[in-house]
Amino acid sequence: MSALLEVHDVRKSFGGLHALSRCSFAVERGSVTGLIGPNGSGKTTMFNVITGYERADAGTIRFDGRDITGLSADRVGALGLGRTFQLSRVFGRLNLLENLRVGSGGVPRSRRKELFSENRCMEMLDAVGLARLAHEPAGSLSYGQRKLVELAMVLAQEPSVILLDEPAGGINPTLIGQMAERITELNKQGVTFLLVEHNMEFVMGLCDVVAVMERGSVIAVGEPEVVRNDPRVLEAYLGGSLDDDPANAVPAVPAAAAPASGESA
Ligand code: ADP
Ligand code: MG
Repeated sequence: MSALLEVHDVRKSFGGLHALSRCSFAVERGSVTGLIGPNGSGKTTMFNVITGYERADAGTIRFDGRDITGLSADRVGALGLGRTFQLSRVFGRLNLLENLRVGSGGVPRSRRKELFSENRCMEMLDAVGLARLAHEPAGSLSYGQRKLVELAMVLAQEPSVILLDEPAGGINPTLIGQMAERITELNKQGVTFLLVEHNMEFVMGLCDVVAVMERGSVIAVGEPEVVRNDPRVLEAYLGGSLDDDPANAVPAVPAAAAPASGESA
């Protein structure tokens, strides 16, 4: 395997807060790589910087050998780097097919017709196990199903790497299993994954490699079992077990799916 995504010495501050301080790590081609760490350690900021939603203050990001530092989110998406968001961005009043088409914003106009034909959208919904709900409003879905819709939205853009921000967060065990199966399936088909997740069972079961962040730094990178027992990592989780992370608790989720707002942080 060779690195498909390389983050080198990346820094990002918000005012005086160093959200990312000289972070480096790589995502190997064909891997499922985990990015874990306590709340506020910089994981979402890392995603934002990689995918062009935030601009790094310093450092370089390479994707498939190409320097993508500072490119816009649309450009990064068009190169084949897809992502989902920690908070659902699905529109509750639109049906699933319509949601997929709305999500085509980052795709060059010339390719939209081809990539977002009804047939292809159905294929993407099928890939996440939701084809039978294609004509239902997204608002009638559970929170976990909406996360699967988001995954379908990303798939439609044919990414070679997908960044998932807490795909299992707040979803029920059955759907967590379904999400894990979809990731494994897509990974077998050649899609590389970088996933932020607090659910340790999910991370340990899926990931080949795990990078750990603490207060804006990458403090460990390695195989899940090794990282899990790394004293620095246990210390980062306040001396407790990784499974005790309060972030593992299932958050309350609003039943109605209003067009969810973007990232809070
Ligand atoms: P994580 O995803 O690991 O929980 P985040 O990347 O969301 O962490 O946040 C890292 C730190 O950066 C936090 O202290 C957060 O409050 C801060 N932060 C993130 N985004 C912004 C922003 N747009 N403006 C100011 N501070 C931010
Ligand atoms: Mg986050």
